[in-house]
Amino acid sequence: MSRQDPATANATIEEQYQEYLMPIWKSLDVPVRRAQGCTVEDFEGNEYLDVFSGIAVTNVGHRNEAVVEAAKDQLDKFVHGCSYVHPHQPAADLAERLAEVTPGDLQKTFFGNSGTEAVEGAIKLARKYTGNTEVIALEMGFHGRTLGSLALTGNKSYKADMGPVINDVSHFAAPYAYRCQTCEGGPCPGDCAAELEHRINTHTADDLAAVVVEPVMGEGGMIVPPEGWLQQVKEIAHDHGALLVADEVQTGYGRTGSMWAVDHFEVVPDIITQAKGIANGLPLGAFTASAEVADAFESGDHLSTFGGNPVACGAALEVIDQLEGGIIENARNRGEWLTERLAELETEYEVVGDTRGLGLMQGVELVDPTATGPRGIAPTPDAKLAKSVGAHLHEDGVIMGVGGFYGNVMRFQPPLIIGEEELDRAISALEAAITEETA
Ligand code: PMP
Repeated sequence: MSRQDPATANATIEEQYQEYLMPIWKSLDVPVRRAQGCTVEDFEGNEYLDVFSGIAVTNVGHRNEAVVEAAKDQLDKFVHGCSYVHPHQPAADLAERLAEVTPGDLQKTFFGNSGTEAVEGAIKLARKYTGNTEVIALEMGFHGRTLGSLALTGNKSYKADMGPVINDVSHFAAPYAYRCQTCEGGPCPGDCAAELEHRINTHTADDLAAVVVEPVMGEGGMIVPPEGWLQQVKEIAHDHGALLVADEVQTGYGRTGSMWAVDHFEVVPDIITQAKGIANGLPLGAFTASAEVADAFESGDHLSTFGGNPVACGAALEVIDQLEGGIIENARNRGEWLTERLAELETEYEVVGDTRGLGLMQGVELVDPTATGPRGIAPTPDAKLAKSVGAHLHEDGVIMGVGGFYGNVMRFQPPLIIGEEELDRAISALEAAITEETA
């Protein structure tokens, strides 16, 4: 039996949120009554095409039946057993499966509950293994909101009034070709990794434990680095005695048309962090390292009461099977098609400054073509337009993310099962919204 009268629930939920939840949202999005595949339904029965997946989480589709079944199956056995005290099969099986599907010699996993915890744990492990303390991460990068990962997050807007964050963290320039701070708008020579060497030499005491990067930057605005960049970053990290941590919280689990974004660059990181798509919406986070690195942790060095929850691990095993069984391939094929379609928007609309991404992680950067942007590079980001385009899309029944460092990037991150017709509908809706909002 439903607890709410559907007709009044939309309004009621907003009132309850105002009254009883901490006011951290910027603006409330579509309230969810149920969701299936790529469709989200609100309490009034309105259906939305979801091309944002609850911030890139429901990779195998909302309420994927086999994943729901796997979770129910585990719910019927036991719900909790603290995987660090009482060994259980779902955590053991998932860890073994991750050793198979993560790149190279990555083998041993720690389970937590979220992306930020995965990053925190990876920092601790890198410090323990290297014996060093400093961490360097990308400007404009995002790694979470707890005080360690927040220090790595290269965007002041998440940090205001929240400090002090952890010490010994610095940043280097993002490989953001469209607004390149290294080459200042000139042709991309693709050697911005060299910037890392300069930053280490000028901003650190060369006591580096980790270089932490998103192999494709998500919250920063779907930024894909140039060929060779990640390999160079790894080499520089190792030259300085540091580990390369690939934060694949957003890019992992097929999002970029490959199981991991690092696969595109043929780079094996020392630690890979995961969350979001891992269990298709059930809370789970993880980081995986080679046995040599992982074995630096000693008993008692790290723990999480809920980490490796059996229901979430059971769901994750099914997610991986489905991804490998054709969904990643779908993401790759749809992604190639999407890249071409979005590139057309650049020529058709003056306000579309850049389109970019990999697989089903793509962005459309909206600009004011009449004004020049930060440091005189590329036209001014138009966050106001992006916000109104996002609102317009909602009215039209499409949920699309709005983000990027400057708040001006429309985000295509649909469930990876999406079909061409649904993607086409989202693009047409985006075109209509851009046309009407700029009229
Ligand atoms: N790392 C990356 C790359 C992310 O995109 C996010 C979330 N957007 C996080 C870490 C933090 O994940 P969570 O919100 O689960 O803590």
